[in-house]
Amino acid sequence: MPSIPHLSVSLLLLLVTACANGFSEEKKLLHSEILKDEAVARLFELGKVSDSEEFLERTFQSAASVRAGSLIRRWMEDAGLQTWVDQMGNVHGRHEGLNPREKALLMGSHLDTVIDAGVFDGALGIITALSALKVLKIKGMLGNLKRPVEVIAFSDEEGVRFQSTFLGSAAIAGVLPVSTLQVHDKSGVTVQGSLRMNSIDISEENLLQLKYDPESVYGYVEVHIEQGPVLENVGLPLGLVKGIAGQTRLKVTVKGTQGHAGTVPMKMRRDPMAGAAELIVLLESLCNQPESFLSYDGQCAASAAQSLAGSLVCTVGEISTWPSASNVIPGQVTFTVDIRAMDDLGREAIIYEFSNRIHQICDKRSVLCFVERKHDADAVACDAELSSKLRSAVYAAVGPLSDDELLDMPVLMSGAGHDAMAMSHLTKVAMLFVRCRSGISHSPAEHVLNDDVWAAGMALLEFLESLV
Ligand SMILES: [Zn+2]
Repeated sequence: MPSIPHLSVSLLLLLVTACANGFSEEKKLLHSEILKDEAVARLFELGKVSDSEEFLERTFQSAASVRAGSLIRRWMEDAGLQTWVDQMGNVHGRHEGLNPREKALLMGSHLDTVIDAGVFDGALGIITALSALKVLKIKGMLGNLKRPVEVIAFSDEEGVRFQSTFLGSAAIAGVLPVSTLQVHDKSGVTVQGSLRMNSIDISEENLLQLKYDPESVYGYVEVHIEQGPVLENVGLPLGLVKGIAGQTRLKVTVKGTQGHAGTVPMKMRRDPMAGAAELIVLLESLCNQPESFLSYDGQCAASAAQSLAGSLVCTVGEISTWPSASNVIPGQVTFTVDIRAMDDLGREAIIYEFSNRIHQICDKRSVLCFVERKHDADAVACDAELSSKLRSAVYAAVGPLSDDELLDMPVLMSGAGHDAMAMSHLTKVAMLFVRCRSGISHSPAEHVLNDDVWAAGMALLEFLESLV
């Protein structure tokens, strides 16, 4: 006999309770038909809208992304929303509710994908928001919303085509530099040119006008697949996000003396490959156990140490050597370092410690080392009040998610960037993560259980009902 998924039991309990509270059988079915069956069908329908026949690919302003925008716009209208496409290709659906002058709640995620993508990344946040609003419309409650609600399907989060993430959400948040319009893709088409090919006339002036007035916005809420294994490990469908990690990218170059693999004695070598290997292992140790390496006096508070212990991740993802031949001691080795943590001061302390130790190791090995800082982004903390409303909505929607009283809803750090990161420059943000199979994303193997799609939709519905 197949085991009953944990959430199904929770939902069953909820629905039994709901019926006991006077909810009709009809309403129960309505919710599951829209929040589960239709939402899942739409995820797979959108997942078929691709520029490639073999795999899912939708990049900024590609033919498929324009078709996807039209499909989403239809679903927005089906949910009772007024729709439009802005000059960065973002698709908007809005209902003014009772008070059009009130600050608006913004919700959404991105409609673009990576190459050979899964169907849930981005799409889940758009479709669950629209499903929840559609249920409100059917219940006749859309006009009772105390503030306007707007769903935005952002045109670019992955940055595949122009190597420049958040084109859509950064424009709305007012943090997209106007020079971005002249960035070009591999075939020489600029961001501005790609929009013009789709009859969208964007200029520097109207890019600046896309920025929302912060006074007109209440907050931004995004549902997204977790893209990690934590929720699956604890056996729960939903988790709150406490923030999005800050990130630093470094490029480390180690220079030694190039030579013949057969003739240079070991003791006379200045080998940058062995040096780079030692540095990479040092980075791993440092990030595994920062508390054994860092002295926190003056550099980093005790709270940062605690925060680092739970969120710090470091990766060497790319390495290149010159001249890269099996019978040559390399002259130079270059590798990248990606460091992410919730605590910005803690991340700085790690970089400081790593850089110091790099120079000690390189001196000892008589090789030259250079560290270049290529990219920095500060961490974004989710808003406590908005998150607490989201948490209450989850509990109200699916009940206590565990029988174990000690096991509260998980609060996770996002190691990946999201549109919420750009939107945090405009307004307070909150995020809900949804369990995905084996933590896999950016792959056709990406998978979310139908019941978990339902749970996310129920949570958003409950959250919206709290605005009625
Ligand atoms: Zn995403």
